[in-house]
Amino acid sequence: MPDVLFINGRFTDTSERVLGVEDRGFQFGDAVYEVFKFLGRTPIFLTEHYARLGEGLHELEIPNPWPDVNAFSATMRELLDRTEFDDGTVYIQVSRGEAERAHFWPEGMTPTAVAYSRRFKFPDAAKKERGIRVITAPDRRWCHCDLKSVNLLANSMAKKKAQRAGADEAILIHDATVSEGASSSFFAVIDGRIITHPLDERILPGVVRDHVIDLAIAAHIRVDERPLREAELFTLGEAFITSTTQGVMPVTEIDGRIIGNSRRGEVTAELQRRFDELERGAQ
Ligand code: PLP
Repeated sequence: MPDVLFINGRFTDTSERVLGVEDRGFQFGDAVYEVFKFLGRTPIFLTEHYARLGEGLHELEIPNPWPDVNAFSATMRELLDRTEFDDGTVYIQVSRGEAERAHFWPEGMTPTAVAYSRRFKFPDAAKKERGIRVITAPDRRWCHCDLKSVNLLANSMAKKKAQRAGADEAILIHDATVSEGASSSFFAVIDGRIITHPLDERILPGVVRDHVIDLAIAAHIRVDERPLREAELFTLGEAFITSTTQGVMPVTEIDGRIIGNSRRGEVTAELQRRFDELERGAQ
């Protein structure tokens, strides 16, 4: 079943082949992307996703196809109006555009903007309680992970390794410290405080990460934004990951070692409850 597809100002579906082989997103990974969730056809945290997309485009000197959040919102509204299901995700990618292959790009290129909606099976209550297993893997990504660029090869290799080990996520390690998950932000809970990597070039500024930090502060849970040492991973009371598709997801095992009692911890459960409520309110 093809999905509804927006491409450079028009709508079609994903059965149409819309990109040329010299699109720089394809040849150079010269593109950024976003993924937002929609529930009951209402986009969740659209403004935050637009802001991050805009920052990435600005950093890469790619013109933003949507001059403001209202223009972006209008395109996404039409995409969802044309979509046949109520809940899912929208994938958006903006590349520098198409030009004869050369590392130097010509000035004044027109970006390629695509967006499509897709069904997504969000975790149910049982999964949210059960949590996930993760493995650790070396962080082999470049040093600009704060950009949501489409260069996801190192992330994909780490995720595949996790899958082959019977785990759901790979937690990436650089210089004996934890950066983040291959497709999620990572949080540890030690003595009732949450610890997560500070915002810098080693991690993506996760939309859910930001909300969870605010929710923790509102709940009088202390937040330490500092790199977690790899050795600390095995002394944790609780751990969880966050992402647009997984929300707040408990981690119950790291490299085969049990975290807490192999059950969702109390701090994790509280933040999960608060985040789900926030998300429902955003509908
Ligand atoms: N970190 C990485 C590397 C990711 O790919 C993602 C999501 O795809 C996240 C963190 C979580 O970001 P968000 O909460 O905005 O979905």
